[in-house]
Amino acid sequence: MKRLFIKTLGCQMNEYDTFKIYNMLNITHNLQLTNNTNNANILILNTCSIRNKSQEKAFSEILKWKQIKNINKNIIIIITGCLAVQEGNILHKKFPFINIIVGPQTIHKIPELLNRVILDYNNKNLFIDLLFSKKEKFNYIPLQEKNISNYISISEGCNRYCTYCIVPYTRGKEIHREFNNIMTEILILSKRKIKEIILLGQNVNNYNGTINNIYKANLSLIIYYINEIKHIKRIKFITSHPSSLSNKIIQLFSKINKLNNNLHLPIQSGSNKILNLMKRGYKEEDYKKKILTLKKIRKNITISTDIIVGFPEETHQDFLHTINVIHNIKFDKSYSFLYSKRLNTTASKKKDNINLFEKKERLNIIQTLLNKYTSIISKQMIKNTYNTLYLGKSKNNKYIETKTENNRIIKIINNTNKIKNTIKIMIIKSKNNLLKGKKLIQ
Ligand code: SF4
Repeated sequence: MKRLFIKTLGCQMNEYDTFKIYNMLNITHNLQLTNNTNNANILILNTCSIRNKSQEKAFSEILKWKQIKNINKNIIIIITGCLAVQEGNILHKKFPFINIIVGPQTIHKIPELLNRVILDYNNKNLFIDLLFSKKEKFNYIPLQEKNISNYISISEGCNRYCTYCIVPYTRGKEIHREFNNIMTEILILSKRKIKEIILLGQNVNNYNGTINNIYKANLSLIIYYINEIKHIKRIKFITSHPSSLSNKIIQLFSKINKLNNNLHLPIQSGSNKILNLMKRGYKEEDYKKKILTLKKIRKNITISTDIIVGFPEETHQDFLHTINVIHNIKFDKSYSFLYSKRLNTTASKKKDNINLFEKKERLNIIQTLLNKYTSIISKQMIKNTYNTLYLGKSKNNKYIETKTENNRIIKIINNTNKIKNTIKIMIIKSKNNLLKGKKLIQ
């Protein structure tokens, strides 16, 4: 049996793709997963190019794999993900030892390309497929559950072209998966042990699919249908765009109890000038208004976000607006990054006029503040009880990990062999935002 090593960089969409790649290859090539590159026959790197750092990580991994290929000439190296599309043939010129390069939209072609590499005994040819296929990818991917919580891709790509973002260039324009195709996958998963469905898309609120290629279907319809499936206890959707988060979707939080008690809604900046330069399509006050409506409907809902610091032309005043919005919304576990120039994007043509020292200082302030509000929420959770979903055991078997309705991971001492999929717990401790809980008798 051949052994496969897969490394994933980047977002949940990449995680989802990696899982699907493994499932496909398991069926077509009966491969066994290994976490050791030295005893693998096939190495796959699922790359990300959203920021310079992620790109550098991918390059450094490929360089490590070059050493492995020098020792083992028969090893097959496959590169996929956004960097594969961004760099394309350049990637091959830089690293001629790569065997297959495919974009995120053509991962379903990996088994066929792998056969061609295997038949190519000299192992010299490169097989490359970077097309933006239509809905083909969705049709070819086999079904399989990951664990109790499963990602389901409902759309891919993005039409918004925020000025800093490379995604529309690497994942292409939005494609929407057929409604019946999505529901079939969810229904099959619900008959297994799946309890949580996480609907995935770059701009999931914009889902605009069809039923039998005739009737229109939107995100609300998918959520209503999942809500009717008895075994599915939780529904989450990521990533939302503030402009596409309609009042209709917000109102779902009052009607559908299964919707998670956390919404990830990237604000990126608190300054209207910067939001405009980013071409985000909303103002800071629109964002706050939507959150206010949501919090009226779901008092305890937590909001997480993404923030970019040091976008070109961001003044100290603009930065203070971002600080203010953090104080106002009191975000839970959020992500913040230094602005990173991405190839071909509109913002890359702008002068990056803030020095690195200043950018890092601003990032530090933002992260300290985000951390402070996360800590406050952690402390508020102590002594409260939650219905959590079992995720798995810790490596040393000492703890089990569960997930609350508001998306927090809780560690509980593992003192039983009989573990249920849903566990009622009480939070007892919070240290550096790591929450510990105890199991309550159900
Ligand atoms: S909405 Fe903007 S940031 Fe998000 S994927 Fe699309 S272009 Fe990128």
